[in-house]
Amino acid sequence: MKELGDLLKVTPVEVIKRLMTNGVMASMNQSIDYDTAAVVAVELGWDPQEEVAVEVAPSPPAIEEEEADDPATLKERPPVVTILGHVDHGKTSLLDAIRKTRVAAGEAGGITQHVGAYQVEREGRKITFIDTPGHAAFTAMRARGAQVTDIAVLVVAADDGVMPQTIEAISHAQAAGVPMIVAINKMDLPGANPDRIKQQLTEHNVVVEDFGGDIVTVPVSATKGTGIDDLLESINLVAEISELRANPDRPAAAVVVEAEMDSSRGPLATLLVKNGTLRQGDAIVAGEISGRVKAMFDDRGERIREAGPSTPAVVMGMEEVPEAGERLRVVADEKTARQVVEDRRRAREASEQTAHAHVNLDTLFNEISAGKLKELIIVLKADVRGSAEAIRAAVERLSTAEVKVKVIHSSTGTVNDSDVMLAEASNGIILAFNTKVDPSARKRSDATGVDIRSYGIIYQLLEDIEKALAGMYEPVYNMVVDGHAEVRQVFKSSRVGGIAGCYVTDGTIRRGLSVRVLRGGAELAKGRCEGLKRFQDDVREVQTGYECGVVVSGFDKFAEGDVLEFFHEERAN
Ligand code: GDP
Repeated sequence: MKELGDLLKVTPVEVIKRLMTNGVMASMNQSIDYDTAAVVAVELGWDPQEEVAVEVAPSPPAIEEEEADDPATLKERPPVVTILGHVDHGKTSLLDAIRKTRVAAGEAGGITQHVGAYQVEREGRKITFIDTPGHAAFTAMRARGAQVTDIAVLVVAADDGVMPQTIEAISHAQAAGVPMIVAINKMDLPGANPDRIKQQLTEHNVVVEDFGGDIVTVPVSATKGTGIDDLLESINLVAEISELRANPDRPAAAVVVEAEMDSSRGPLATLLVKNGTLRQGDAIVAGEISGRVKAMFDDRGERIREAGPSTPAVVMGMEEVPEAGERLRVVADEKTARQVVEDRRRAREASEQTAHAHVNLDTLFNEISAGKLKELIIVLKADVRGSAEAIRAAVERLSTAEVKVKVIHSSTGTVNDSDVMLAEASNGIILAFNTKVDPSARKRSDATGVDIRSYGIIYQLLEDIEKALAGMYEPVYNMVVDGHAEVRQVFKSSRVGGIAGCYVTDGTIRRGLSVRVLRGGAELAKGRCEGLKRFQDDVREVQTGYECGVVVSGFDKFAEGDVLEFFHEERAN
């Protein structure tokens, strides 16, 4: 009624009066059909036209990207901090020690359960900590396109120094463009040597303040609780420089940091609000899961009704358990939420038929030509430090006017999960020099499409990159022989022609392999093994010492004494 009144530029009461004179009894909030509304409209001097619902082509997924905020609406928000560092250097202990500072400040409900993130306050300013330390979680989120961290605290144990995962963590933070603070932990131990650590960090291009750089270091002891306040102060200083801002007065955009199925409350997701304010009752979408904020809790398990930027909130009311790293949006209503999910599902199904979008040496040039790629990001692993350094310098020199070659991580050792994740999150490739690929890393790269190239000769590695950049990279294949079979008898078949009755003299032959037919040592024909039979049965393979019947595509003029060489091709580069 009100809508109609607005449309006809009269009060809703006027509309109701008109309806009554036409014999329709309607209340203020009731909807009426078009014909009835049209009668009223005509009476009021309008010329109504029914809006025809137009069939539109499948629309692009609804509201994927956020509209930019007017700078005037932005307000300061707390920093979101992730703790990184080598195993056993004290990441978990430090998170616990920081959490305890709140208890010391006399706040209620000090004991918190782990929900994935928590907030503390120092001198009236809040700091949010991601409660899952380490660069695996950090980069896994980034690989999903969800960067939540504003500041990385790199923990280095004073008695142990810079270790392999410390270096990984540095590269992960740098690749993400996140400023870093170094917490030199275990200062209570007698062997603590902070100067040695500062020295080591410099060797890895992390230049601390004492050495003329801009990286802040803070000596701490997580177990003794010393230096924690200094660390929080440093975080606030770095946050201030970073000018972290968000607009609290808009529908929320958040990231799932953790989620689980609760037996009584259903799916529970810990969200970190990135922008806007999340409110109870909001319709939400995370990936392909929709829902409504039925109830919200803070990091201490207390009910809250809204959560602003950088605030962790445990949300009840999603249809299913979303994955960590998934981005969440507030939409107009639950119907829209379901529509967005449906659009996304369709878009995913459509894109699954296209190739992997990940950068690959084979297709590199196409992307460069299309102007889609300005940087070739490389994660480099080598057997020894000397070659890693040499290769790094040499590949970076291959940069052209169009493409910059950038090594974002180089270290020694096998290619591991962390390397694949880093390459995935940064859309890079991995170069492995004289080193192996861990089986789990191989699995991950197969699943994500991250290109891993292994080399044993520097010159070849450089040549491949150079060629790829110039669009001259051609895959090279090596022929790998699988086995040989000798033709002992020739059969005729009305359907396929000549069938070679063979004896496998070495190796294992398989259907589908390529075959060379050799007579007197010379190649007579080449084809594919199209049929393989043992007696009357079709078989997939036949091993040494067995007889079989072979059909070769495009050739059937076998003679007794011919040798069939079975082979396949393998990528050599
Ligand atoms: P994480 O693997 O990096 O999370 O390391 P943890 O927090 O689990 O700590 C590893 C070990 O170092 C534990 O035995 C801790 O008690 C110990 N530790 C952590 N911080 C300190 C510290 O400041 N001083 C001493 N002496 N030990 C510490």
